[in-house]
Parts: sequence; structure tokens; C-alpha cells
Amino acid sequence: MNENINTIIMNCDEKGAISKAAVTLRKGGLVAFPTETVYGLGADALNPEASTKIYAAKGRPSDNPLIVHIADTYAVFKLASHVPKKAVMLMEAFWPGPLTIILPKKDIVPRETTGGLDTVAIRMPSHPAALDMIRQSQLYIAAPSANISGRPSPTTADHVINDMKGRIDMILDGGAVGIGIESTIVDMTGDVPMILRPGFITKAMLENIVGAVTVDKSLTDSISDIKPKAPGMKYTHYAPKGELTIVEAAEETDTPDNSASEHSHQNHGSAHSYITRLSVAKKINALIAEKKQQGFKTAVIASAENAHLYNCENILIAGEAASGETIAAKLYGILRECDDIGADYIYSEAFNRGKLGNAIMNRLLKAAGQRVIKV
Ligand code: AMP
Ligand code: MG
Repeated sequence: MNENINTIIMNCDEKGAISKAAVTLRKGGLVAFPTETVYGLGADALNPEASTKIYAAKGRPSDNPLIVHIADTYAVFKLASHVPKKAVMLMEAFWPGPLTIILPKKDIVPRETTGGLDTVAIRMPSHPAALDMIRQSQLYIAAPSANISGRPSPTTADHVINDMKGRIDMILDGGAVGIGIESTIVDMTGDVPMILRPGFITKAMLENIVGAVTVDKSLTDSISDIKPKAPGMKYTHYAPKGELTIVEAAEETDTPDNSASEHSHQNHGSAHSYITRLSVAKKINALIAEKKQQGFKTAVIASAENAHLYNCENILIAGEAASGETIAAKLYGILRECDDIGADYIYSEAFNRGKLGNAIMNRLLKAAGQRVIKV
């Protein structure tokens, strides 16, 4: 990989920035850009050479397909050979927004973009700079997250610069993103829509529009060798360099059903909940003391409410336990901070409350290589 490309970095609001990005894309170049979920690394989706460059820049396995970003709904009909009614209903309800839809692809979509699959993943982002760039380029933009493969997805332009400077043509700086975790992916090629990756748009929100929705079995069975249907979900992701372990109170585990979340949310302030939080903190503090004695550097990932319970040199505050939005927005930045600190062992609370609990725990468990201690 040539790491000596002169990467142009421009603020989205800077005069000429978006048009420069559009021209770069039209020439087959690579542009990192902000979306409402995470930063994407874009290239012309219908140009196999441009798509191939994305894989090289990220060090991404070539069987891990890209999401095609569009700015107008009609583009779906250019890219997909069949668009079922339920897919149209979801597009109308959630686009532009953090929902990716899998449909059978038309021949014009090269296999370099779809990781060799006959299906294509499509999404319309809601970030104004992303929409403007796609429109001005008059292209469909293939874009995975703009990180080196295996690292946490970037949620600020600095994260992108750290991973991609010298490897890509341009970075559009739009500041910190809003949501902070990747889009929900729904496979619309079967009779019943199936969630392949949880995200901001929950199962309940989808079912509200199209009725029954299933979830890929590899997401719900914790110890399983079931192959995930979204190829990217099988790779180690988001992992800090140190060993991350989640410490969770056994009885606090929420079901994947979001309806349970309101209940535990209300419970948060109770005496019972306080005792549970103390037992998690006690376990984490014991683990930290042990590792410190062995000469290791440690870090804790905790909610703002619980931070004071820990005795550690590095306490990283993920957000407020009762607000999944605040945790999603900070999670990847905090996982990167663990690397900056050089933490050898990292212990995290579980964050399974609220609407985003499912999506957050999906990413956190991956980052932890599924290592969980129940207390
Ligand atoms: P990223 O944007 O880096 O999170 O990567 C895109 C994600 O979308 C990966 O996890 C892919 O496996 C998934 N994806 C893209 N296209 C498809 C497809 N045709 N079928 C299933 N999953 C897909
Ligand atoms: Mg990614």
C-alpha cells in the first residue's frame, strides 16, 4: 500500500470543498466524508478499480461488501433488480437516515463493490454534506467506514486522519458525527425482512412499518458458529489493542427486545440498582488492582453516573447510562483512547439499557471478543 498520497483535508463548510470532493470521486479517487452514523470512505460504486482502492486503503478483506450511498430514492431502481413493496415502505419511513437495505443487485453493480455477492447494500445518509457530495458527483458512492480494517469506526475527522492520511485523496471534515455507530442493516431479499446488523433504527421501529421482522441468528446466539449473513460481522471489529473485558451484573442483562428497556431505565435509581452497580464496580476494582500489581496499565469504561465508583488511573466516561444516544456517540472514540493511553487491560460496564442498548452491546461485545464476566 502506497502511504504517500497527498491527502487534501478540507472543512465541509469551506468554499469549494464539496465540489472538490465530487470531482475527486469522478476521477476514481477516494474521499472520506461525514455521515450521521460514522465517517465513510467513498469511491465510485460502479467503477471496479475505484472500489478496489477502498479495500487496499483500509486493508479490508475483499469478501467484505461495501454499502452504496445514494442521494435520491430513484437510484435504488438503477442498482437493484427487484424492489419489494416492504423495502419501499422502509425507504419512505427512514430515508434519508441510518438504515441500509439489502436487495438483489443489477448487473451494473460490479462484484468488486459487493464483495462477490449477488446482492447490494444501499443507504441514503441524512448528513447534508454527504448528500451534497453524492449529488454533485452524480455517482453512487460505495463507502464502508473510513477506518483501517479492524479498528473502531471513525466518529471524528481526527480519527479518519489518524487512520487514512497518506492513503486516500481527500478528507472532508464535518466535526463529530451525530449517532456514532453504524447503520442498521436489513436484508429485504427474503419474505420476512431480517436484521443483519443492529443500529439506531430498532427492530420495533421497523416492525411498526412492515410488520414482522427477524434477526440474523448469529446476532442472538452468543456462543455460536453460525455464519453471519452480513459478511463484515464475522470479522473482529472495533477492538482496542489492550484486552477488553465486559463486567456485567447477571440479573441486569436485558433481553434483545427493546420493550424491556423502559423498565430497567426506571429501575436505575433504585436501591437495588445501586447495589448491582456497586457489585460490578467491586469486581472491576479487584481486577484492576490485580493487573496493576503485575505492572500493567489499566483503564475502565464507565457511565458518568458510576465513574466515581472506580479506583483506576484511567477512567473513560462513555456517556450517561440512562441515555444510549450519549454512549453510542462516544463509544468508538473511547475505544481509540484506550490505544492512545496504551492500556493493557480494559474493563467496561455493560450498556444494555434503552433503545440503543442492543446496537451498543453488539459493538462492545465484538470489541471485547465476547469476553464477559458476570457478577
Ligand atoms: P461498514 O460500512 O464498514 O460497516 O461495512 C459495511 C457492512 O455492510 C459490512 O458489515 C458488510 O458485511 C455489510 N454488507 C454490505 N453489503 C452487504 C450485502 N450485500 N449483504 C449483506 N451484508 C452486506
Ligand atoms: Mg466498518
